[in-house]
Amino acid sequence: DPQLNRNYTFNNFVEGDCNRLARSAGYAVAAKPGGTSFNPLMIYGGVGLGKTHLAQAIGNEIKQTLPDKLVLYVSCEKFTQQFVDALKHNNINDFVNFYQAIDVLIMDDVHNFAGKEKTQDFFFHIFNHLHQSGKQVIITSDKAPKDLAGLEERLLSRFKWGLSADLQVPDLETRMAILKNKTYQDGIELSNDVIEYVAHNIDNNVRELEGAMVSLLAQSTLNRKEIDLALAKQMLKNFVKNSSKEISMEYIQNLVCEYFEVPIEMVKSQTRKREIVQARQISMYLAKAHTKSSLKSIGHFFGGRDHSTVIYACQTVEDLIDTDKKFKGYVADIQKKLKMS
Ligand code: ADP
Ligand code: MG
Repeated sequence: DPQLNRNYTFNNFVEGDCNRLARSAGYAVAAKPGGTSFNPLMIYGGVGLGKTHLAQAIGNEIKQTLPDKLVLYVSCEKFTQQFVDALKHNNINDFVNFYQAIDVLIMDDVHNFAGKEKTQDFFFHIFNHLHQSGKQVIITSDKAPKDLAGLEERLLSRFKWGLSADLQVPDLETRMAILKNKTYQDGIELSNDVIEYVAHNIDNNVRELEGAMVSLLAQSTLNRKEIDLALAKQMLKNFVKNSSKEISMEYIQNLVCEYFEVPIEMVKSQTRKREIVQARQISMYLAKAHTKSSLKSIGHFFGGRDHSTVIYACQTVEDLIDTDKKFKGYVADIQKKLKMS
């Protein structure tokens, strides 16, 4: 099937907290297309986080294990184009028949349906037909169904019938695993400190992570240099993040939460659990030290607190740095990571 890219498999889709639900739902769907309550299966998440990879992995898995099933992968743009062409050439019926015969329809990037009312209408009918016939529909989108502006309500309500599972930005450990997996697949050797350095610094999405690795390899080939930490540092300087990049409160928050292994939403919550309070106070302290944000906006960012809470947090952290060696070590560690970025 020319529509499916065989390189996108479950096998090379590295598992992590960021994708566990979506990945296992995908597996379930692949084992029993149309036969689970995950119909449609909606995979959503930001750009470069693996939506297309995972959706295609499901398709490829089905092709492998259930070769009789008719699997079609299509992007929303391509579908729209086909629909427009079919209208123009008066062969809507062929178009409909073609789509209604599919067993597994993978529709990528449905957020691109926004504003295209006729195409949406048309997809709505195809969707209903497939769903009623027990066929599997898999859709991807850059947002959760409830946040998909510009899509018709009735289509959105269909999307909510099944399961929506999100892909999040992978944490450091998963980013390293993805890099390792990729180097392994390509037969490249990268030392651990290079992998860690790249994974540390490229933390937006997986596509950028891969991009960084590709340019690292290119530079090493061009300059006939071994890929060591020095080359990685030099390369990353003019890659995604440049060294003058401002550190954001969000970045600090992610870093601190990752460090203490506490869920991000807890830091913004009202919880007074010790380790959460500690993560929150350190985040505020670092935000004051490393960003240009006012005390007011720092308080606001970390769960709608007022500026006196921020002052108190900074004071507490400073006191602890003076009196508690272990604590001082934590803060120094995190600060080191901040500076690596
Ligand atoms: P999206 O469709 O969400 O924009 P893609 O599916 O195109 O993202 O993924 C971008 C790149 O990152 C692809 O090369 C994909 O193989 C890779 N990728 C994403 N997530 C993972 C993962 N968990 N394991 C391995 N590679 C991944
Ligand atoms: Mg995609």
